[in-house]
Amino acid sequence: MSASERASGTPQAALLLAFLILIAALAANYLFYRSLVDDQDATLERHVRQLAEYVHADMLDGVNEQILAHQRMAARFDYHGLEDWSGWQREVSLFKSHHAFYHAIGVLDPELEIIWIEQSDAATSDARLIFAPARYHAGALREASQTGEFVIARPVLIPGGRFTLTFYHPIGVGVAHRGFLAATFSVPDAVERMISDMFRDELKLRVRSRGEIVFPYPEPDEFNTYQWQAGFAIDLDGDGDAMEFEFGLSESSRQQYASALPRVAIIGGSAVSLLLAIVTFLALNAGRHANVLARSNNRLEQEIRERELAEQEMELLVTHDTLTGLPNRTGSTRYLERILADSEGEKGQLALMFFDLDQFKDINDSLGHQLGDQLLCEIPRRLATVLKDRDFVGRHGGDEFLIAAIRPLREDIEQLAINILRSLDHGFAIDDNRFFVSASIGIAYYSESGETVADLIQNADTALFKAKNAGRNQFAVFTREMFSQAQHRLNLSRDIRHALDAGQFRVVYQPIVSVKDLSLVGLEALLRWQHEKGYQVPPQEFIRVAEETGVIGRLGEFALERALSDLAEWKKSVKQPPGLAVNVSGAQVREGDFAEKLSMLLHRYRIQPELIHLEITEEVLIENLMRNRRMLEKLNDIGMRIVVDDFGVGYSSLAYLKNFPISVVKIDRGFIQDLADDHEDQAITRTICSLAGDLGMQTVAEGVERLDQLELLRQFKCDFAQGFLFSRPVEAEAISTMLTGELPWRNVATEAHQ
Ligand code: C2E
Ligand code: MG
Ligand code: MG
Repeated sequence: MSASERASGTPQAALLLAFLILIAALAANYLFYRSLVDDQDATLERHVRQLAEYVHADMLDGVNEQILAHQRMAARFDYHGLEDWSGWQREVSLFKSHHAFYHAIGVLDPELEIIWIEQSDAATSDARLIFAPARYHAGALREASQTGEFVIARPVLIPGGRFTLTFYHPIGVGVAHRGFLAATFSVPDAVERMISDMFRDELKLRVRSRGEIVFPYPEPDEFNTYQWQAGFAIDLDGDGDAMEFEFGLSESSRQQYASALPRVAIIGGSAVSLLLAIVTFLALNAGRHANVLARSNNRLEQEIRERELAEQEMELLVTHDTLTGLPNRTGSTRYLERILADSEGEKGQLALMFFDLDQFKDINDSLGHQLGDQLLCEIPRRLATVLKDRDFVGRHGGDEFLIAAIRPLREDIEQLAINILRSLDHGFAIDDNRFFVSASIGIAYYSESGETVADLIQNADTALFKAKNAGRNQFAVFTREMFSQAQHRLNLSRDIRHALDAGQFRVVYQPIVSVKDLSLVGLEALLRWQHEKGYQVPPQEFIRVAEETGVIGRLGEFALERALSDLAEWKKSVKQPPGLAVNVSGAQVREGDFAEKLSMLLHRYRIQPELIHLEITEEVLIENLMRNRRMLEKLNDIGMRIVVDDFGVGYSSLAYLKNFPISVVKIDRGFIQDLADDHEDQAITRTICSLAGDLGMQTVAEGVERLDQLELLRQFKCDFAQGFLFSRPVEAEAISTMLTGELPWRNVATEAHQ
């Protein structure tokens, strides 16, 4: 930052600088104004002095003229004497009437006694007083009688506020001395008279005699402070007592002569100073603003650069997956959109594959997320061994990948899908772990199975669902039927929420009987949905959709609560209530607070945990081995029984069931259906029953419809049976009657025993 920048760095500094400039400019302006005023004063003073000189000359002329007149009158008196006295008297009276400022003119004898006097009316009463000074100046007069010089008496204030001055002129000198001519006049009137009209308005005049102000009398207040600019003294009789005249310019002529320049200078100069300060302030501020602007511009540019970089990074983050470095869902969509656009007019079949690892969750849960992540990083490498450079791979999320490829024929695409699946066959070796993982693929062909990326992804996902359902480790191609199925599922999921609120769901119960004596030992709670359109929706269907869409939580809670409240009712009427089997779906288990919710319900309906059998399919059990085991152990600890439902359809091995706190194995209906005729089913059922018995578990056979099936089960030492042979699932009220009265299958029981 330069010095000036620093100086003007802040608005305060700019203001201070502007203020200093204002002060300096005002000071300079004032000095200039003062010099103008001084100049002007000097000019005026010169002017006044000049005027004063004129007045001086006028005065001298005037006074001398009077003195001459007095001397002439004295000389004529001396010449004529008292003989021709009347002519002289006339002359003097005439003189006095011509010179109005005279109060009196008279003749004194050598003893200073008045011989004759011509006086104005106003002064009559004071005539003596007027001549009294003569006595006061007796010495001077005696001397004058010898020298012939005239004597001026000191001024006397007479009533009316006027000073008078008296001249004494000797008549005759020495031995011929015959007296004095005394002339008294009003000083102000005389002065007025003697100053020429020309100057009267222009000047202010003050006259002192022997230190006393004699004109004007009384002195106006303003004269105290008035600046007298010129003056002169007249000592007529040479006795050292001069009359001092002082002059100044009258206010009106001062204004007349005063130039507007100083005023213009001070006003204009002040305005210019202020303007200068403002301009300085603005200029500095503008400079400062310019600096600030330049700095903020720099900062802005830097920020823009940083933002661009950040945006690029963000873009990369937004469009790419940090783990595998592949385009993520957003990025994939963008790439795929470009691929669709570029493929226009290109020959061959464009296909989008939805690739999903089978049971990746298990790998993650059992071997740890870190290893799961490493596996996910390996997948693109493995895919690269069968894909071409032009093919696209993106990560859609979790263990799902999107693959886009163009091949001449559909068969080529399907072959590619097979190659991808095969490429996983030789397993993965990560951190000394060697494991195998399969995948399922859903394929959507462009443009038959979708014209937009979103449609293609969704339809490939639907096909993937199909591939998973069909047993995994395979691919499925999207078809129109799948679309309608998917649509149906979508409608269904929407309907389920509505149906729950509208009370369209209810719970029915199917008895479970003891194979030994066909007594009622338990009930399985099964959900029923009476759709508002009149038909029943099969549980398998809505349960699956509910699981897929997440509404299973609410649905399961509803079934559980209803079953428990029904059981609480039944408990009131029977001593030994039957066990209650409730189906628990994978999604419910996964929710995490399942155990807590269940405990709360048990507490609310005051039901012993021992009465509750939780039916969980083996698929759900192995889905998350560690966590499910912990949860099931917790439930088992509080007394609940765990039942493996539909046993035998999956990968079940009784060996691994050892790891779980399982009390009952429910043999899938599939083995029971043809039990009487199918030897293999017989062998399997027998083995399950005996192995379970060895492991301390009880067995239930599902779907028992016929007596021969029951008979075989008895042989195999199966513990319990459930099926239409005994009862279809029935309403809660029907169960109440069963519990208190005769069991409807009693006859069957008797038959079977015989
Ligand atoms: P599941 O748990 O295996 O239930 C037994 C199914 O077999 C029931 O079908 C029952 O009606 C049927 N069944 C019983 N005896 C016979 C028979 O002798 N012959 C034939 N053909 N079928 C018989 P349902 O009620 O249609 O239920 C189907 C599945 O839906 C259930 O299979 C269960 O997995 C699921 N499910 C039903 N209710 C619920 C529920 O509240 N929660 C959950 N998560 N799943 C439920
Ligand atoms: Mg069941
Ligand atoms: Mg079952």
